[in-house]
Amino acid sequence: MADDVIIIGAGIIGAACARALAVAGYTVTVIDRGTVAGGTSSACEGNLLVSDKGPGHELVLAQFASTLWKQAVADLAEQLGDGFPSVEYDQKGGLVVATTPAGAGPLLAFAESQRAAGVDARVISVADAHELEPDLAPWIEAAVHYPEDAQVQPTIATDALMSSARLFGARVLENTTVLGPIFDSAGALTGLVTSAGELRADRILVAAGPWSGEVAALLGQHLPVRPRRGEVLVTSRMRHRIFHKVYDADYVGAVGSDDSALQTSSVVESTGSGTVLIGSSRQQVGFDARLRVDALHEIAAKALRLFPFLADAAIMRSYGGFRPFMPDHLPVIGEDPRMPGLWHATGHEGAGIGLSLATADLLVDLMRGVPPKLDPSPFSLTRASLASHLMEVA
Ligand SMILES: Cc1cc2nc3c(=O)[nH]c(=O)nc-3n(C[C@H](O)[C@H](O)[C@H](O)COP(=O)(O)OP(=O)(O)OC[C@H]3O[C@@H](n4cnc5c(N)ncnc54)[C@H](O)[C@@H]3O)c2cc1C
Repeated sequence: MADDVIIIGAGIIGAACARALAVAGYTVTVIDRGTVAGGTSSACEGNLLVSDKGPGHELVLAQFASTLWKQAVADLAEQLGDGFPSVEYDQKGGLVVATTPAGAGPLLAFAESQRAAGVDARVISVADAHELEPDLAPWIEAAVHYPEDAQVQPTIATDALMSSARLFGARVLENTTVLGPIFDSAGALTGLVTSAGELRADRILVAAGPWSGEVAALLGQHLPVRPRRGEVLVTSRMRHRIFHKVYDADYVGAVGSDDSALQTSSVVESTGSGTVLIGSSRQQVGFDARLRVDALHEIAAKALRLFPFLADAAIMRSYGGFRPFMPDHLPVIGEDPRMPGLWHATGHEGAGIGLSLATADLLVDLMRGVPPKLDPSPFSLTRASLASHLMEVA
């Protein structure tokens, strides 16, 4: 029997979409060539940020997302019960600082533009910044506090969303790889050939993270999603000394940059388990998964500019993942007009954890044909900013 929707990819985007679709009454099958949360969603940090986004479409999606997380976390806890681990949701707030006089002006101007777009961005004195973070370096030049920023444990959040989807009837096939498409006589995509046999559905949703370009190509369409490598250092557990997500203002420039060469910026935060995550790098090196000394060296050096006490911290491990990079820095959410039956929810780059719930909400409304809560056109495959990237290979 055909499903209403097959989702390719069991990362946080696939999990959030599976849950939202199942709750809306759709029959859903999720397939993944690995396991739930086996891709980027377990090789990242779990920040739910508005602070790093300037006015624009991604910020609007992030603001919508931040209204959904608290309720979703409460619903997940109720649905999954006490036996399921906490997703560690914590609206701890973000603190963005400039460590040089030259960095102060752009940080304050950025915060002002965000306030005009409805972000709670509070310029605070350097003394107040030290009040919030007593171990912050003395050479801070300017600081902005973002009380809306939050975090979750991303692997658990992905697993929780998928477990909830299962409770609403979604079927999850792990260790199942997409091999090719099945079309009807009119050319509509009606199923997939997979390593577990043929599967049929009215709609196929590509949510394969950084591999979405490859998966779309397998189905016969070009999608300009590329991997953007990121690496993170993890300290061993320590006394709680970092209370917000703290980062250097130059992070925002790195996020929005198109540069494929190595870029690093300090992003430091404590986790519920007592470790400190020190991120992160951005580099386009294909799917090369080697941990690079130059990237880790730069990340560590910049973190010490924020928190000198980390020089004495023990590094327990480091890890890396691949952000699903889109050339215009916006995800694709919706139907593919080039191929009936094909849908996408992908390309969230460094914000897929935060944007997952909003993406799923938008996607379900689009599938149901009801007016979405926010304008879907900036996330459409037909937006002007993507045209040249699609035509590159047409
Ligand atoms: C270092 C780093 C730090 C980050 N920090 C943050 C952060 O703080 N906050 C935030 O919001 N985001 C962050 N991100 C980004 C975030 O991790 C991603 O945007 C998000 O995880 C993407 O989720 P996804 O479900 O699209 O992809 P994934 O989690 O990668 O899931 C895709 C799935 O598709 C499957 N798949 C691939 N090909 C096939 C196939 N042929 N057949 C079947 N299945 C297939 C894979 O096995 C995988 O499980 C970070 C990323 C990195 C690398």
